[in-house]
Amino acid sequence: MLKNDLLETWDRENFFHPSTHLADFARGDAPQRVVTGGSGSYIEDREGNRLLDAFAGLYCVNVGYGRSEIADAIAAQAKELAYYHAYVGHGTEASITLAKMVLDRAPAHMSKVYFGLSGSDANETNIKLVWYYNNILGRPEKKKIISRWRGYHGSGLMTGSLTGLELFHKKFDLPLAQVIHTTAPYYYRRENLAQSEAEFVAQCVADLDALIAREGADTIAAMIGEPVLGTGGIVPPPAGYWEAIQAVLEKHDILLIADEVVTGFGRTGSMMGSTHYGIEPDIITIAKGLTSAYAPLSGSIISGKVWTVLEQGTDENGPIGHGWTYSAHPIGAAAGVANLKLIDEMGLVANAGETGAYFRAAMTEALGDHGNIGEIRGEGMLCALEFVADREARRFFDPSDKVGYRLAAALLEQGVIGRAMPQGDILGFAPPLSLSREEADIIVAATAKAAQSVLG
Ligand code: PMP
Repeated sequence: MLKNDLLETWDRENFFHPSTHLADFARGDAPQRVVTGGSGSYIEDREGNRLLDAFAGLYCVNVGYGRSEIADAIAAQAKELAYYHAYVGHGTEASITLAKMVLDRAPAHMSKVYFGLSGSDANETNIKLVWYYNNILGRPEKKKIISRWRGYHGSGLMTGSLTGLELFHKKFDLPLAQVIHTTAPYYYRRENLAQSEAEFVAQCVADLDALIAREGADTIAAMIGEPVLGTGGIVPPPAGYWEAIQAVLEKHDILLIADEVVTGFGRTGSMMGSTHYGIEPDIITIAKGLTSAYAPLSGSIISGKVWTVLEQGTDENGPIGHGWTYSAHPIGAAAGVANLKLIDEMGLVANAGETGAYFRAAMTEALGDHGNIGEIRGEGMLCALEFVADREARRFFDPSDKVGYRLAAALLEQGVIGRAMPQGDILGFAPPLSLSREEADIIVAATAKAAQSVLG
């Protein structure tokens, strides 16, 4: 197994790992794992561990590991044509086919798809397009972007600003001035415990209204939001939230960007999260589930309303000044085509709904009465457990106790990968959409043991 016994040393000496405590890692005080293989819901590492990946990588390996249908499509594309660009009207069979397949799965009012490489760069594209849109419409002041606290939209300059998590701002001089944040639709963490869910939604709407009034609607271009808050805690929206928010945006002529990097292509149990929650966005961000991470590819799906203005802009100004060398990379596009076909053939959207519901019900059955679990929530193949010091009083643990991280570590001891979400003691699960009931049972049993070992 250990083909090169220097690999771990080389790793510490040379490799800058994202989202990692750099100093701890260099000292050998942080986790290190060299992953060597994967099959279905499991990964393997160099030490011979076989782990059930209940977070599908970073909620992206939606069809599971080791699917030869996608690997073969990538190999065939690489042999036939590894690369050609997509500038000035060029395309490949794979990229054109994928655009058609994406539009067939998107809400009916969507019109075109632009392909990038990551969720972050897709959202950068989206913000540029929104600015361009307002310039073409003769409203150069209408540029600010509303995001939600606890939203996650990437870690670039603009997208890191949109992300509403402190860790992604601190010491990076973010957020940029054009970004303003509003209340997270996170009922469990509402400030006023006496509020009903409907009252809390009214509060979210009032907060948004107040923000728009303070800043001026004619300075605000768009709002961005994930249909289900992801990295911020895996929080489905309270009932009626999206309907009420959309009414406010419409009133002020503010565009809506639905960031479906996590929810796109089946994770909620519907093909798209927008359809699941009755959201009618102007732009949709896609990534992760588009290729199940077999190759890097993302996309911006543009509505007819926005597209018309983009076309008008190029009539007035010449070709759109936007694009990456690797936009619509043929290998990514071939992976996307094979992946979307596989999702259909394996019935994974339905499985996400059905096995996801079974998984949450089993988790609730096993741990729903635990005195340190305040809430078990989710949608489709998403589940989160929120741990609290006192359930009745909804008293949170002291963050320095690192309860969430200790629980994730204890779970790993049981051979299961969950994720300690970055803000709060929240254990998150987003397994492959292909998860079986037997695997769901394994995750639940391991979580119960982990909770027992950390909390008693
Ligand atoms: N949007 C959402 C909703 C995400 O969850 C993520 C990644 N977790 C991103 C954007 C950024 O994607 P990437 O990491 O591919 O840049």
